[in-house]
Amino acid sequence: MDDLIKEMECQAEEKNIPIMQKKGIDFLCKIIDKSDVKNILEIGTAIGYSAIKMALVNDNITVTSIERDQDRYIEALKNIKKAKLDKRINVIFGDALDTKINEKYDLIFIDAAKGQYIRFFEKYKENLNPGGIIVSDNLSFHGLVEQKERIESRNLRQLVGKIKKYIEFLENNKEFKTKFYKLGDGIAISLKED
Ligand code: SAH
Ligand code: MG
Repeated sequence: MDDLIKEMECQAEEKNIPIMQKKGIDFLCKIIDKSDVKNILEIGTAIGYSAIKMALVNDNITVTSIERDQDRYIEALKNIKKAKLDKRINVIFGDALDTKINEKYDLIFIDAAKGQYIRFFEKYKENLNPGGIIVSDNLSFHGLVEQKERIESRNLRQLVGKIKKYIEFLENNKEFKTKFYKLGDGIAISLKED
């Protein structure tokens, strides 16, 4: 299994696929373990790295993950099969904003298009079990969120602006209480208030 994980890390590096950073995924796996999470919904599978890592926390965990890029979706299926986790990880090919999911989850992990985070959050909070958490990745966006004014590319500045808006949205959200962690590429954990 360690070999497969390494292979995936190399694959991601070669093809420039933004899989979770090591510190970030270790932190997430610890939370899954501690909070006794059983089922997970992931938005943004890429090649299946984080889905596999999360499923490996213990044998009771099941993951549903959504990916809209066909090549990555196919790679993810291959990697999940190699890991013998195809019974516990289900990948859905499609755009998460158009996907209809009825099931409820203990943890929802948002790790897809950064400009759409508010929409993902609003849509998928309906799929959260009582006491469940929503985890969001890349809120630091390689350190760029902290130094937006210095970014020269207009597109990039707009994207970083959207991430800032999402952070404000979480900070001001009355339904959820969010904690921010400067780990990996910046992670937020949002817990629904009862
Ligand atoms: N969670 C993965 C990394 C995901 S990278 C890991 O850590 O291993 C982000 C992925 O989200 C990309 O592969 C991209 O194609 C996908 N994505 C972006 N927007 C999406 C959307 N609206 N619906 C589904 N997938 C999306
Ligand atoms: Mg990420």
